[in-house]
Amino acid sequence: MRDLSTLAKYPFLNEARQYIKDNGPSVTELLEGLLYERSRTIGIERLDNALKNGNVGNRSLASKSDRMMEIFSYPLARMVAVSVGDTYFKRRYALGEAIHAYGNLLNERPSFLIEVSEELQINAEYVENVGNIKVFFKDYLRNAPTRYKKWKMVNRDIDGGYVHISVRDLARLILESLRRRIEEELESRKSNKAIEKAFSSDIKRFQNMVNVHKKKMEAAPVGKLSIEKLPPCMKDILAAIQAGENVPHMGRFALVSFLNSLQLSTNEILKIFSNAPDYQEDRTRYQVDHITGASSSTSYKSPGCEKMRTYGICPVDKMDELCREVYHPLTYYSAKWRQEKNKK
Ligand code: SF4
Repeated sequence: MRDLSTLAKYPFLNEARQYIKDNGPSVTELLEGLLYERSRTIGIERLDNALKNGNVGNRSLASKSDRMMEIFSYPLARMVAVSVGDTYFKRRYALGEAIHAYGNLLNERPSFLIEVSEELQINAEYVENVGNIKVFFKDYLRNAPTRYKKWKMVNRDIDGGYVHISVRDLARLILESLRRRIEEELESRKSNKAIEKAFSSDIKRFQNMVNVHKKKMEAAPVGKLSIEKLPPCMKDILAAIQAGENVPHMGRFALVSFLNSLQLSTNEILKIFSNAPDYQEDRTRYQVDHITGASSSTSYKSPGCEKMRTYGICPVDKMDELCREVYHPLTYYSAKWRQEKNKK
């Protein structure tokens, strides 16, 4: 069995689950026992950190008790996340756990990453003589952020159905797979009455924080932009970016070129992207500058509704009456402004 310190750093592992089953307290003890107060505090800290910083954060694991409390805090945080009952919150928490694990994985031996991959159904092997990893292409495609050039299959060495990547890149694949797994698990769980009672004030606090965030996103104009007047397609892409989802390149392209047509500056566009949990300024600036023409001779035009549909980024089920009258998301946006002016 792995040592407690490893289980505390990776509490999502099956062995950590088994450890809790074999050595952990009952749910009542965990929720009420004085001995487990520290676990409860850490559980809430994980959620706070994930929401505010996009990472559940590190704590001291110096003593055996530190490690045990850290392990027990994980199921608590998950149960509270389920009880908050908000998809954005659950996604943000899942990402916070995955980013935390990623940070730790970067300091591990390749063999450990291979073991973690196995648990997450990523078929990967360490190629000792070259010191890199080979991953089955389907597992690669399922988890790679292919919107970035480096991750596109054409830019990878492929051999017999396996993609060759670095150990660091394997950690990135694990991040994505873990994020998705936690998200799916949280979505499939039901809220627990005992948790709702024990953490009622924190649950309310988190719900309020999420509502404030959503209101800010919907109503507050960013620069010259009014988010509430955006067409459903752009709102969808924006919401996905903010939730840290793997938005396909075409989605990002459509949003950036749309915002560029509204004369938003690169910095204003970056401000919108900066709310995303996986935001990286350098990369985003590079992409934005490329699309807007700031770093190339071409400024790309924002795609019309037909093209958006062809690329599968027009959410047909969310189309409203105005959508049926326009042929371009930009026309939708200006029509919304006109409607508001006419109301005054
Ligand atoms: S119809 Fe056009 S404006 Fe409306 S959601 Fe689809 S792409 Fe966007």
